Amino acid sequence: MAVLPAKDVSFDIHVPVAIIGGGACGMIAALAVKDAGLDSVALERDPIPRGSTALSSGMIPACCSKIQQAAGVEDSVDIMAADIQKKARGQADPDLVETVCRESGPAIDWLTDVHSVELTLVQGFLYPSHSQMRMHAPASRDGADLISGLTQAVERADISVMTNAHVVDLYADDSGRILGLKTERPDGSGDLIGCDALVMACNGFGGNSDMVGQFIPDMVDANYFGHVGNQGDAILWGEALGAATRHLGSYQGHGSVAHPHGILISWALMMQGGIQINSEGRRFSNEHDGYSEQGRRVLAQPGSIAWDVFDNRLHERGQEFVDYREADAAGAVCTADSVEALAELTGVPLETLRQTLAETERLAAGDGTDEFGRDFTGEPALDPPYRAIRVTGSLFHTQGGLVVDKDARVLRQDGSQLPNLMAGGGAACGVSGPEDWGYLSGNGLLTAVTLGRLSGATAARIALDK
Ligand SMILES: Cc1cc2nc3c(=O)[nH]c(=O)nc-3n(C[C@H](O)[C@H](O)[C@H](O)COP(=O)(O)OP(=O)(O)OC[C@H]3O[C@@H](n4cnc5c(N)ncnc54)[C@H](O)[C@@H]3O)c2cc1C
Repeated sequence: MAVLPAKDVSFDIHVPVAIIGGGACGMIAALAVKDAGLDSVALERDPIPRGSTALSSGMIPACCSKIQQAAGVEDSVDIMAADIQKKARGQADPDLVETVCRESGPAIDWLTDVHSVELTLVQGFLYPSHSQMRMHAPASRDGADLISGLTQAVERADISVMTNAHVVDLYADDSGRILGLKTERPDGSGDLIGCDALVMACNGFGGNSDMVGQFIPDMVDANYFGHVGNQGDAILWGEALGAATRHLGSYQGHGSVAHPHGILISWALMMQGGIQINSEGRRFSNEHDGYSEQGRRVLAQPGSIAWDVFDNRLHERGQEFVDYREADAAGAVCTADSVEALAELTGVPLETLRQTLAETERLAAGDGTDEFGRDFTGEPALDPPYRAIRVTGSLFHTQGGLVVDKDARVLRQDGSQLPNLMAGGGAACGVSGPEDWGYLSGNGLLTAVTLGRLSGATAARIALDK
């Protein structure tokens, strides 16, 4: 991975806009370039474009989309921005927060109306710290369907996607202008592709254990649940070009991955009455703080595991999620008719478990205050038969990255713009502040979608002005 001098390099082909990465950000950038009337090529290292997008639940937060408005949800850029900043403890870049919130609704409308990507509003519960229902997702709640919808839109728009095309080097002039790049195929062959503008949509560094060890040492031994091809290339190239990076210690963790099955269990269960206990039978946190910081908290429990405990009511609600159905089919979801049976099943001490459940029942009835600060009164107490899933904490994706402005242009350390470089999604610094606790559900796809669209539009403008 290097940035090499472009002098004397002769490129095999030339495209107005090159895009590195074929996840949500790259596909959306490509659609935006096409809408501006220009050609691009999306370069994806894998044989099939999937990325972390395909592994996700496909939940895209957005305010004031037509879908959200039709459901009668009253939301606004200000409300959404306040939710993001509250979770990030005011440490996200306010201009970027405003930009992504403002762009979110129009981006969803554009995807659904112009590019026929099917999305629905997720209703019935709120994700942690969301004050309004604003998650838009495929009906299956499966990121594989999101990337498939985007890929089909790209095919319909007749956009080139080059797969098995691992971008290994960039070529730039002395001013930092990218003139082209080099791809490598699995058989060792490759292409030299010239471009007028470049979009980095190759996500962060979750798959690069050296970088995780350097920037997020707490999670270096954690299971990485994202796409392994995300090796931090955007950051490495950006730094070589003098770009600024920010919040490299920021990431999305998750506290509910079925273990050892390795299947994501939706946090919707926790938001609707479920609890997490450790192997001593005790709760250890406010589950409603968020699933991201819960990854670290679960890993800090004995054996690095916890149990999601819920009941049949929530088991039924879990069926909405394809991951949950898969976990159920894989035998991860256990059933216990009584507290005694639950203690035996989980191996936790019966008396402690009894006390934990009795306490949550009291809290659900409005009697007392939770020591961790969770409000239990909005949902009924758990009712046997119980359900339980053994889970562990994981690293999902990194949230720090290249600093971009409101047009998704990559900035140098002195705040000036690099001549023709854009970034979005996990390649760019997001809106989650410096650590794991700042991740508001959906911040990942929020920047993939909004900055992806802005990156494409800006890249097209730069290429046209050339
Ligand atoms: C299990 C899980 C669940 C999640 N659920 C949600 C959710 O519901 N909502 C949400 O907002 N976020 C969620 N996220 C986070 C979300 O998936 C990411 O934030 C988002 O997909 C990032 O999109 P992207 O396009 O930037 O990256 P990706 O989708 O990862 O795409 C990047 C692509 O770049 C390619 N690439 C990398 N380097 C190169 C190179 N040098 N040359 C060529 N190609 C390269 C990769 O192969 C990859 O295909 C989840 C993450 C995980 C792991």
